[in-house]
Formats: sequence, C-alpha cells, structure tokens
Amino acid sequence: MKFQAYARHNLNKIPAYGRLSQSQIQAINIVSEVLPFKTNNYVVNELIDWDNYKNDPLFILNFPQKSMLRPPQFRTLTEMVEKNASKTDLARYVNELRLTLNPHPAGQLEHNVPTLKGEKLTGIQHKYRETMLFFPSQGQTCHAYCTFCFRWPQFTGLNELKFTMKQPGLVVSYLKENPSISDILFTGGDPMVMKASVLEKYIDAILYADLPQLKTIRIGTKSLSFWPYRYLTDPDSDHLLELFRKVSDRGIHLAFMAHFNHHRELETDAIREAVSRIRSTGAQIRTQSPLLKHINDDPQVWSTMWRTQVEMGMVPYYMFVARDTGAQSYFGVTLKQSSHIFNEAYKQVSGICRTVRGPSMSAGPGKVRIVGITKVQGEKVFVLEFLQGRNPDWVGQPFFAAFDPEAQWLDDLVPAFGASGFFFEKEYNKLVKVDKLPGHILNTDNKQYA
Ligand SMILES: *Cc1c(COP(=O)(O)O)cnc(C)c1O
Ligand code: SF4
Repeated sequence: MKFQAYARHNLNKIPAYGRLSQSQIQAINIVSEVLPFKTNNYVVNELIDWDNYKNDPLFILNFPQKSMLRPPQFRTLTEMVEKNASKTDLARYVNELRLTLNPHPAGQLEHNVPTLKGEKLTGIQHKYRETMLFFPSQGQTCHAYCTFCFRWPQFTGLNELKFTMKQPGLVVSYLKENPSISDILFTGGDPMVMKASVLEKYIDAILYADLPQLKTIRIGTKSLSFWPYRYLTDPDSDHLLELFRKVSDRGIHLAFMAHFNHHRELETDAIREAVSRIRSTGAQIRTQSPLLKHINDDPQVWSTMWRTQVEMGMVPYYMFVARDTGAQSYFGVTLKQSSHIFNEAYKQVSGICRTVRGPSMSAGPGKVRIVGITKVQGEKVFVLEFLQGRNPDWVGQPFFAAFDPEAQWLDDLVPAFGASGFFFEKEYNKLVKVDKLPGHILNTDNKQYA
C-alpha cells in the first residue's frame, strides 16, 4: 500500500470528499490555519466510518472541528480569510491564537534543555532519573496529525519552540555522563516516520557504544494506528523489522510505546498483522492514550480497548488526563470524570489488563495519578500519588487535594484539610528556580502521548 497524505490543499482528493458538508469543509479550512491538518489514505479508507462521520471519533481525531477554536476566534479568523487579509496580518493573528493555546505546558523552555560540557542539547529532555527523551530531527512529523495534539509547534513554523537534534554522538556522550539512565525513548513527532536506514544510524550508535547501563530502547509512536503499513508494505518494512530484531538480539529490550485512542483503531487486518510482525522480532508493545471528550470519554471504549490490546499481545500502560494545552476546551475532561471513567473501565476487565495505570497528569512536578475520590473525616478529597517525580522520592506517597468537581488539572487543585501547600511544593519550587542542576531535575516535558 502506497502512503498518500491529505491536507488542506488536496482535501478534494479524499474519496469521501463529496460527503463532507459545506460547513465541515469551512471548519477544516479555517481551523487548520491554526491547528495543523494532515490525514492519509489508511485513516480515510480503513478507519473512518463515513456513514456517521460527524460523530466518528476517528474523524474527529484527524479533521479540525469548528468548536476547537473559541467562537470569537473562529469568527475573526473566518472574516480575515473571507476578506482576503494580507498574509502578514493573517500570520500574525494565527500566531497570536497559537500562543493562547499554550504550546509548552508544564514548564518553560529555558528549563527544558540539559547541557553537556557547556553545550545545550536541544534534542534531549531528561526529567525522570531513569529515562531520557530523544527527539531525532528526522522524526518530527507524523503519518497524520491528531487534532488534540499540543506538539504542533514542532510541525509548524514557530521555530524557537522546536526540539530536535541531529548528532547521535551527543546522545551517547550524554548517556555516558548520566549512568542513571537505563531507558532512552525515541520520540517526536513520530520517530517511525524515519527511514529504517536513518533510525538504524541512531540505534547503532547507541547499541555499539559501551553502555552497560542501557536496558531499554523505547519508541513512542502512533504509526500502528495511523500507518500500520509501515511494518508491512513500505519499501523498507523488512529492514525495519530486522533492525528491531537486532536490538533484541543484543539483549536490549525494545519497547514500543504505542499510542491508541479508541478500540476501532485495533480492528483492521493491517494493524493485526503489523502487531504480530513487530512482536515476532522480540519487541514488546505497551499502549497509552489520553482521555478525550468527543473521542473516548466512555468507560466502555477503554475496557474494550484494553481487552483487545491484551488479546493482540500488547500491554496496557497509561491513561493520561488531557492536558492543559491545545484545544483543551474541546477535549478536556474534569478530574472527577477522568477518575470515574478510569475506575469504571478498570472494574470491567480481568487482572491481565490491569497493567494500565491512570488517570495520570504529566505536570511540572511529575506524573500524578488520581487514585480516587473519597471522604476523610467528613471532607471530600482527591487521593493522589506520583507515578513519576522530579524527585524520585516523591513516588508512591499518597497525598490529598480538596475535591473540586470542575478541576481539570493539577494547577486547579489546592491541598485538603486547609494545609498551606502540597508536601512536594517547597522543594519543587526550589528545584525549578535554580539554574544549575542535573538535567533530570530541570527538564519539563512537552511530550506525553506517544
Ligand atoms: C512519561 C515520561 C517518561 C516515561 O515515564 P515512565 O513512567 O517510565 O513510562 C519520561 N520522561 C518524561 C518527560 C515523561 O513525561
Ligand atoms: S499525538 Fe503523536 S501522532 Fe498525534 S499528532 Fe501528536 S505527535 Fe503526532
């Protein structure tokens, strides 16, 4: 199967184009000024249910919707486009809108970048002791773009917001300087848009460097969902699978961190075959997804998704709370609702599926899970815990926030029982203020889902 991308300029080439209503076409044209739009022939022909496209989660996943912008924003933008505003005026307004969508949540750019011998490593993030994120420059796009994704600065023109790095040598040097790192996570964009030969250069550099600490190479990817033919019929599919086998043969765990949002993404022949081919190389596939209104805010969707994943030999790993960025007002789910959906879904499945953890917020201090909602001596509270912390000592220690039915993110919460701060707050504030600390303490994540 040959890959064919669709964007605004060739929207009318989509076989189902005739089915799109005029107002949907307008929404795509206007909203995609702000949120990048890209889909492809697999998503369009095999995933989307065109008989019911308006409410189809897989349509909403790729196609911009009018209410992803606030009504006044949509109106202003429409007027500008209709009145043929100058390119510079339009670009200025679009950039303004994008900045209101908070492209780098949970921290500031200046805290993101570790240094090595005085040199800034702009393609690396290192927040949690054991795991380093690596953004290979050739992997900063995707086979299709999720409408909820906050990584659009990486795909669009806001250059100063990008993370990428070319030299694999620097990654190896950084790993040697930081022996606590056992996992390297290739991420993007989607690293699986890279040619096998390019990925191999990076992997070989790591594989053949003397790094006894390195146990796991992870690949964060949505390719299984958006382009399973990557592992079946692309010209270098076989080469790619050989590369995976080579990693396993060298005793390194190759972990696919696969991003799925809905069980319907698991139902085509192509994905079933792709999963089975990847697993046959010795690689393992773990799965994760954010919880999103209009896409998967239903316990049934999650329990079916986890069961199907396990049936296919994948391991459910994380459910994330939709984060405080992008079209958050369209996709956001309250913490109350997130906790309810997770627990309802978790209840329905057997212990084999309960490797999944969540709902988890990737916030500045760490990954914070909502354990549940309960009453302690008459006060209704959220019970929370760190799954990952900027300080690893924070992990696993339950703490409490006052219940707030509207809260959507950690920032919205205040400590329960009238306490003046959360137990980690003083230390956290100190950590993010000081400039010269090891990378894992300073870095924030702009990555979450893949
Ligand atoms: C989630 C995440 C990781 C990986 O965490 P695990 O719990 O080990 O999967 C690493 N770095 C950042 C910045 C993350 O957000
Ligand atoms: S969520 Fe992942 S696959 Fe989707 S657009 Fe963002 S980076 Fe790409």
